[in-house]
Parts: sequence; C-alpha cells; structure tokens
Amino acid sequence: MFRSVEYYAGDPILGLMDKFSADPNPNKVNLGIGIYYDEEGVLPVLDCVKTAEERIADPISARPYLPMAGLPGHRSACQNLLFGKNAQVLTDGRVATIATLGGSGALKVGAEFIHQWFPQSKYYVSDPTWSNHIAIFEGCDVEVGTYPYYDKASSSIKFDEMIGFFETLNKQDIVLLHPCCHNPTGMDLTKAQWDKVLEVIKQRELIPFMDIAYQGFGEDMDSDAYAIRKAVDMDLILFVSNSYSKNLSLYGERVGGLSVVCPTVEETERVFGQLNFIVRRIYTSPPSHGGRVVDIVMNDDALYQQWVSEVYGMRDRIKAMRLKLKSVLESKLPERSFDYITRQNGMFSFTGLTVEQIEQLQTEFGIYMVSNSRMCVAGLNVNNIDYVANAMVKVLK
Ligand code: PMP
Repeated sequence: MFRSVEYYAGDPILGLMDKFSADPNPNKVNLGIGIYYDEEGVLPVLDCVKTAEERIADPISARPYLPMAGLPGHRSACQNLLFGKNAQVLTDGRVATIATLGGSGALKVGAEFIHQWFPQSKYYVSDPTWSNHIAIFEGCDVEVGTYPYYDKASSSIKFDEMIGFFETLNKQDIVLLHPCCHNPTGMDLTKAQWDKVLEVIKQRELIPFMDIAYQGFGEDMDSDAYAIRKAVDMDLILFVSNSYSKNLSLYGERVGGLSVVCPTVEETERVFGQLNFIVRRIYTSPPSHGGRVVDIVMNDDALYQQWVSEVYGMRDRIKAMRLKLKSVLESKLPERSFDYITRQNGMFSFTGLTVEQIEQLQTEFGIYMVSNSRMCVAGLNVNNIDYVANAMVKVLK
C-alpha cells in the first residue's frame, strides 16, 4: 500500500541534533542547530518570560480557540517591533499581520499566499540560505532559484553580482532577504548596500520577502529592522516573516508572525482575509500559550525593557565568544586570518571548513557543526571554547 511512499532521509540540521544526543563523548559540543545556550550551556528561560508565565498560571484560565490570526496583542507586538511603534504605515492600517507557528509557519502561510495569488512569480533565495527557505516554498509548488550572495574564498558578500542578478529578474519575482544575522553566513549588508538593493527592487518591481529570525542579535532592535523600515519608506510592497523562537527563547512554543505591507487599506483587508483563510485550511488557529507570553511581554513597558536587555545580554555573550575564538585561533595559527569571525553577526559563523574537517571534528572530538561549515557560536562558552579552538587548530593544520 505505502511502497510508493518515498523514504525521508531526515532534516540535516535536526538529524545532527539527534546524532549529537546519542554521542557518548563526555566532551561533546553542539554547534549545529541554531539555539542559544547560556554560559553554562543551558537553554535559558528569560526572566521576562517567567513573569509572563506566572501571570498566565494565576489563575489558570479556560483555553478557547484563538482567532485564526492569533491574539490581537501578539499581532500588534509583531507590528511594533518590525515597523516601529507608531509607524505611519501602522496608523494608516496598511499592514496585514497574523500570528504564526514560528518563523517557519509564517514562511509557509506566505508561500501558500504567493502560490495562489502570484502564480507567475519565481522566488529567489540567497546562495547559500537556511535550507527550509527552499523546502517550504517548493512544498507549496513555488519555483525556487538562487541569487549570488556569499563568496567562500574571500568570506565576503558578492554584492555587485547580487545586484547584477536582481537586475535580470522579472516584475513581481520574489526575493527572500535576511534583514539581519544572515543564516548561515552571518554576513549582513551595510545600510548603504540595503539602500542600493531596495532601489533595484523598486526599479524592477520585484517583491521583497524579508525573513527576520534574529532581531536584536545583530546590532539592536531598530538597526536590525533597517531594511524593513526602509522598504516601507520607499513604498514597496513587502512580506515580512518574524520569529520569536530565538529572541524570546521560546523555540517549542512556535511563535512568530507574518506581515504583508499593502498599498491601500482596502488591499490590506483583502490580504488579511486570505491569510486567515489559509490558516483555516491548514490548522484553524494558532495555539494560545506562546501567543499569550508574547502579548504579555511585548505590551507591558517594564517587561518589554527587561526583554530587550535580556536579548542584548545574549547578543553580547555571542560577540564575546567570537572575539575569544578569533584570538585563540590567531595566536595558534598566525599565518591565517580569522577576521571573518568578528565580521559576522548573529548566532552563526560560516567557518569555511571542508566536509572532511567537519567530519574529523565530529568523530575525533565530538564537535558538531553543519556540513556546509556553519557553526552556531551560541553553543560556545568559557568551558568549551578552548577545547573547540584547539580542535579547530588540529583539523586546520
Ligand atoms: N528563518 C530563519 C533564517 C531561521 O534561521 C529560522 C530558524 N532556524 C527560521 C526562519 C524559523 O524559525 P522558527 O524556528 O521560529 O520556525
């Protein structure tokens, strides 16, 4: 009966996590999946989240279905964070936002929408990108291509090639962009480069789809949203998917949002209706718990401030690990440059290690990173960083 069902080899990143868990090596280090671990190597529960959880638990309340679009306070939280509180585009009512099941859910609903309403559009992702950017859209029968982004040899962005490529695209083609903390390379565009990219997008009448999963981990909450806000200032149509998995450390709650910036209020209402309809056809409405946490933390001034400083604490710890890793590697391999480590932003460092070197790190040292050479810097801490740096030195020699 099911013999024709194709075997699923598993997801490379999630599969690596399983392999790590099964490894008996007492010194093992998980630098694979994009999860922030604290200085003790523990997945943190943010203090602002603890307070929100206490409020939710007292008194324990009934659990009705949420609206298809999620809690209004979750939706407005996404809007304020992405576009800026009191942004004109919000007062104008030109952003259709729904709460989603993490950033992945936002991409899925966005991809369904594009498949149905922009069937002629091709969708382009950076080379390389997070693998699910491709899988989710292909899963919705959207044709996927790649645009030049990263040059491994020089550890830098192929900016001119990228611009040249965008200039060849057709009207209403979709370009997936990472406003900050590019996954997997960690290499972000400068503000001037964003201005240029958005200018070409406007000229060619392309549609930007910005996926922001690490807001606050790059520079700060506002700078990380620069590209989004600039696109709005330029009157572009825009899709934005955002995730609270990392910056609220709520991975398993599946909280995020999808926002579509529209030219008019009337179009916003149409789009919002269709987004609701897509949700209804897939899962009816999002779960309530994570949405309530988002609503409470983001809409209470004191908790919001506490949240921002907790995110910056995570950001600063990652930056400190970058500096330390770079200095150990440079002291032991002075003939090589490890400058790229501190030029990259967010959780990841694209190390440029070969598949063989990555394999050696895994089998000899129990150090796990993704086979494309992406290392999750947030898995490093004072206890394991020397071990990792020394192992890297050994495989690089
Ligand atoms: N976009 C990017 C760039 C990501 O790195 C991730 C998570 N790895 C997501 C989206 C998905 O986020 P979530 O886990 O909230 O579904």
